Amino acid sequence: MPLPAPKTSAPSFNAVLDARLEGIAPSRRRRRLVATPDPARSVRVLAGGTPCTSFCSNDYLGLAGHPEVIEAFVAAANRYGVGSGASHLVSGHGPEHEALEADLAQLTGRPRALVFSTGYMANLGIGSALITAGDRVFEDRLNHASLLDAGLSSGARFGRYPHCSAAGLAKRLARAQPADSSTCGWVLTDGVFSMDGDVAPLVELAAVARSHGAFLVVDDAHGIGVRGPGGCGTAGAAGLDIDAVPILMGTLGKALGTFGAFVAGSEQLIEMLIQKARTYIYTTALPPAVAAATRASIRLARADDWRRTRLEQHVARFRAGAAALGLTLMPSATAIQPLLVGTDAAALEASAKLLSMGILVSAIRPPTVPEGTARLRITFSAAHEEADIEQLIDALSRLRIGRSVP
Ligand SMILES: *Cc1c(COP(=O)(O)O)cnc(C)c1O
Repeated sequence: MPLPAPKTSAPSFNAVLDARLEGIAPSRRRRRLVATPDPARSVRVLAGGTPCTSFCSNDYLGLAGHPEVIEAFVAAANRYGVGSGASHLVSGHGPEHEALEADLAQLTGRPRALVFSTGYMANLGIGSALITAGDRVFEDRLNHASLLDAGLSSGARFGRYPHCSAAGLAKRLARAQPADSSTCGWVLTDGVFSMDGDVAPLVELAAVARSHGAFLVVDDAHGIGVRGPGGCGTAGAAGLDIDAVPILMGTLGKALGTFGAFVAGSEQLIEMLIQKARTYIYTTALPPAVAAATRASIRLARADDWRRTRLEQHVARFRAGAAALGLTLMPSATAIQPLLVGTDAAALEASAKLLSMGILVSAIRPPTVPEGTARLRITFSAAHEEADIEQLIDALSRLRIGRSVP
């Protein structure tokens, strides 16, 4: 049947979108999708055909392209195929997933772990399975978007506390005692903040949450693999067990160099997620080859202390060099070392200048970060050489970050 002619007064579909896009953001703030050839070889990349050193990847330990990780991936793909074929609860869940979950439970020192297809989905799953409409949610104001969305979409009363402030959290918890015993309080925080690189005061937050009967959820996307003994994560580094942090979430696509995510905790937590986490139930299971590759990267992350040591050395060298240049560092001791620039234009200009010197660093602008705090988000990897750090410092010395822009 032929389509009828459109109503003459109606704008076309694309005209509607053009108008809305115009309304979303001025062109300088428009998000752009740029293909990085060879992105997973995270440190040496080609940009516009020119070899560059990248300081934007979350492959902190240099495992994404590790031969043993690739080999495990290929062997499992040969055995199981590429796709998992179905959701976990139908027929997509296999022995590689089981073994990975056992490894993740061991890595984090928790009784059980459950694999999700992405970190975004793990956080939304925590929200949908655990948090109910009468509950109260307290989030650090700089939490990752997926953690904020988990709280916002739960329908619970939602509030943010000042960044990394256990005292601010305590005040809000005290003000909002539960109306009845059937409701819960939830405190949600990043372990390492993804755009600032600082570490949440988990010991204090856990104490405050516990003393108010609230449950602490830690999103350790940037801590798993890099922090704590054997890369057990930010909670383990702070000596916090399952009583202090009953819900521990981590991702596989950052330091572990693969893809996917997990939640670790008690038997009851995992059972609840299997029953009620919609982003677990209604999605295709992680490919078994990704699970197998992740097992290899967990083995390497646990065994290779030198990767964490090297990363620390790179961070220390960078901070010393940047401080000597008079650059404004943020209070971060992690692989994420942002340089505050201020305006969007200055951040974009700095990023473009670095690129012209063979260095790839991304400019991060609002709304990903608060207004007026556009920055260069510099990340380090154990795959960097010392010479790469020197090259970066040298390039930064040629920029005039912070000066007014035309
Ligand atoms: C990257 C990230 C996520 C999302 O994980 P994906 O697996 O990439 O979806 C969640 N939380 C934090 C803090 C992150 O940095």
